[in-house]
Amino acid sequence: QWIFLAGEFVKKEDAVVSVYDHGFLYGDGVFEGIRVYSGNVFKLDEHLQRLYESAQSIMLNIPYDKEELEQIIVNTIRKNELETAYIRVVVSRGPGNLGLDPASCSQPKVIVIAEALTLFPKELYQRGLRLGSVSTRRNRPDVLSPQVKSLNYLNNILVKLEANQAGVDEALMLNDQGYVTEGSADNIFIIKNNTIFTPPVYLGALEGITRNAIIDLAKTNGYVMKESPFTRHDVYVADEVFLTGTAVEVIAVVEVDGRKINNGEPGNITNHLLSEFRKIVTIDGVA
Ligand code: PLP
Repeated sequence: QWIFLAGEFVKKEDAVVSVYDHGFLYGDGVFEGIRVYSGNVFKLDEHLQRLYESAQSIMLNIPYDKEELEQIIVNTIRKNELETAYIRVVVSRGPGNLGLDPASCSQPKVIVIAEALTLFPKELYQRGLRLGSVSTRRNRPDVLSPQVKSLNYLNNILVKLEANQAGVDEALMLNDQGYVTEGSADNIFIIKNNTIFTPPVYLGALEGITRNAIIDLAKTNGYVMKESPFTRHDVYVADEVFLTGTAVEVIAVVEVDGRKINNGEPGNITNHLLSEFRKIVTIDGVA
């Protein structure tokens, strides 16, 4: 396996970064997770746009323009001879001194990892996920914007740890006002009386690329689709609940805080959207 690391391809065993890299010391950097379906990079423009916006927000200068980085990503996939893959793009502030001031870091590091995809087990999609709400709140948009996919994911990690402790599959994260925002690294949708709802991003959800694709698909398939705030109660009494994300695609939720959703079975609309999503992934990409 070949990793693109700071300008060249190196073997996985040799792909190491300095202990002085501020990505390592402080979580100072940004990243993206992208999928390749049958040789097509799904929504690459959207992922690159979000990466450059995350970098702009934290004043991190990516040493390539978008076209160059796109080419690097495509080359990494080709070099590893992958057809179906998961790509991780990381841009760290680079090595500096031990102080946290990024001014000591003169060379941001770009890393592209392309791996054969390990699919989530089929049984999980058939069974559906159990969710538990957690006490850790989504970070407020007026501090570090939830739109920045930074290397500092401690908040989301705390959320995941709480879910693990509670013995559920995934977390339900609220914002500081108690409105539902998202999971630990996936967006949430609920369905009530055939209307599909997802939280507006201003509440604190990341504007997921899968989320946006599902919003589009819901509309083109004739569903009423609304971005509006909802609470845990609305999730408990929903007809269907599902999560979206680059890794999980679309996955049903069948239990939330012990309340069964749709009698504990993945719902029909969820299954319909998942099958529609699987249809677009190979055509809506960069070959
Ligand atoms: N929310 C968070 C916090 C995430 O890190 C991710 C993963 O990227 C998502 C949601 C889902 O976004 P996407 O569909 O772009 O993968």
